[in-house]
Amino acid sequence: MRLMQQNNHPEPDARAAADADTRQDEVMIAYLPIVRGAAIAVLGYFLFDLVSRIFFPGDAYHGVMLAAVATGALCSVGMIYALRTTKDVWHLEVVASVICLSLFINSNLQQSLYFEVENLLYSVLMMPIFAAILPTRRTILTGIVLSFASLVWLVQTNMPEQVADYFWVGVSGVAAGVAISEIIRTAVLNSVKARLAAVRDREKAEDLARETRHLAECDALTGLPNRRSFFLALNHHVEHLRKTGDAFFLGLVDLDGFKPVNDTYGHAAGDEMLRAVARRLEDAGGATAFPARLGGDEFAILAPAKPKSAEAILTLGHRIEARLSEPYDLGDYTCEGSGSVGLLICDNPELSAHDLMERADHALYFAKRSLQGRAVLFNAALEREMMTSSQVDKALRKSDHDKEFSLVFQPQFDLTKSRITGFEALARWESPELGPVAPDVFISAAERAGLIRPLTRVLLTKALTAMAEWPSGTKLSFNLSTHDLMSPNAIEAILATVRDSGIPASRIEFEITETAMMSDFNQARRAIDQINRAGHSVALDDFGIGYSSLQYLQQLPVSKLKIDHSFVSSILEDSSSYKIVRTLLSLSQTLDLGCVIEGVETEAQLHILRTMGARHIQGYLIGQPMPEDQIRDVLQRRFDFSPRALSRPQDNSARAARS
Ligand code: C2E
Ligand code: CA
Ligand code: CA
Repeated sequence: MRLMQQNNHPEPDARAAADADTRQDEVMIAYLPIVRGAAIAVLGYFLFDLVSRIFFPGDAYHGVMLAAVATGALCSVGMIYALRTTKDVWHLEVVASVICLSLFINSNLQQSLYFEVENLLYSVLMMPIFAAILPTRRTILTGIVLSFASLVWLVQTNMPEQVADYFWVGVSGVAAGVAISEIIRTAVLNSVKARLAAVRDREKAEDLARETRHLAECDALTGLPNRRSFFLALNHHVEHLRKTGDAFFLGLVDLDGFKPVNDTYGHAAGDEMLRAVARRLEDAGGATAFPARLGGDEFAILAPAKPKSAEAILTLGHRIEARLSEPYDLGDYTCEGSGSVGLLICDNPELSAHDLMERADHALYFAKRSLQGRAVLFNAALEREMMTSSQVDKALRKSDHDKEFSLVFQPQFDLTKSRITGFEALARWESPELGPVAPDVFISAAERAGLIRPLTRVLLTKALTAMAEWPSGTKLSFNLSTHDLMSPNAIEAILATVRDSGIPASRIEFEITETAMMSDFNQARRAIDQINRAGHSVALDDFGIGYSSLQYLQQLPVSKLKIDHSFVSSILEDSSSYKIVRTLLSLSQTLDLGCVIEGVETEAQLHILRTMGARHIQGYLIGQPMPEDQIRDVLQRRFDFSPRALSRPQDNSARAARS
């Protein structure tokens, strides 16, 4: 605002200086051609005079006049030359004055050497001529006064009796000179003024157009081309590929954990980080690449495919990867960061810009999902996966949640009490078009399509209905998606669904994954608080495979960890899995958190887990996820997982439980 005020009211001195500059420009533009034309005409006159004097030599002063005319001609040539470098009005005044003076001196010299009455006409004529040629009022005035004075002086010297008559002739000359000068000045200067104004308007319009274009094409924060210009460039590359067969590389970049940086260090630091990312992408891409910011923490890059090989594009990807994982200096803080990169070699002319984006996006999605901070090149396997997921997306949009989705329940077992304490509800989808679809696949598809909240509500209602048949001590674990946690209203709707069922909140535990923490830690924490206040407990699912940050864990009001089944499956063969499970178990004990070990499939695994002090387990050993009508049976089944029973090699109770 202050800046605008300054622009609207410039300092008076500055404005006066600017006005003076404009006037000088106008005079230069108006008079430079006039003075140049006059110089050429005067040169022509002198040359003509010179030739006629050479061919028709006259009286005694012939030599003097010849020299004077030759000097006048030379002087005109000099002035024509000087005009080529004339830049300001003062310079122009000098040149025009010299031209007029050469005429003046010549004519007066001639008259003083051999006076002729009829030549007095030249003195009178000179006044309007000077008035027309000279560029400023002061030079015009001087020129007219000099001519007038010379006229009077010549008459006074040669025929004093006629001074009065010629005085009035001179006055008419002065009047004509002044009138002509004013008419010419006004006409010429006005037309120049109008021309200059038109030029200035055009320049202003061009400036505005340039600025608008810049605003429309560039991202204001980072200065990189924005989403719109990126798509223009991408379309242009696609056209070029179709015409010439020239392939190109496309990369999509998404920062990992940018939201926590924004939340923890503030938006100014977040902005600084985005600017740094932009500069690093420019560096990593080199002079021929086209990096752009698509929005938020998403960036893209186009680069020529030279050479067109997987190595070349992966080298670019690794360069980006390396640059993005250098520390970020954010003023008062330094922070770590990384970016996931999805890469695509664009060499198929049949694919549209949209198809290419979809593929690069899928590679990025894969990088985000499994290899954060790494670059992934789109390949045939990802192509197959993508085709499936787009079919899933379509089928999901048309699906009837209530009819097509159901729940199975997997028992959770307490080793010390030797009984099932509760069940985890796991969603199943039997699509009429695609058949059964894996939950990992449809849950992420529902998240992408923005359908997860209604789906969660339908599933929760089904779980609560099933629970009505269970014994009052049996608990339910229900999975929530990250998206369910992102708004207080969505959580309130979930809590209200439970309240309406009349089932005590203490019997229902919600499971959330670490990805929820990563996308918005503060909101995730508020959500957990909100759930806790309603009397539910919260378990942190798949613990160990993500960030597993102790700092996060200490700040989160969760009451349980679920150790991911990937560790248990390799606990016998892989010593690091063994150590991880042991560490996570003791971590949960230190923090006074409950701990469920998932994916327990064999008695041997159970044996090891028991030696580590595990208490709650879940997995095929106890029971596969089952339809609700089997729950009553499984609750009545007796399990004997005592060390004595497990050590008996022929003990088949667990296998019986599974069958
Ligand atoms: P999760 O919450 O970690 O669920 C446990 C997964 O491990 C389930 O896979 C279950 O069938 C599987 N599992 C259980 N015991 C064993 C075992 O002994 N060995 C092995 N190898 N696997 C075992 P499922 O049902 O395919 O679910 C996959 C994921 O889908 C779940 O992982 C959860 O993240 C998500 N999911 C499932 N149902 C829901 C739901 O209703 N809502 C939300 N938001 N997510 C859900
Ligand atoms: Ca779970
Ligand atoms: Ca899990």
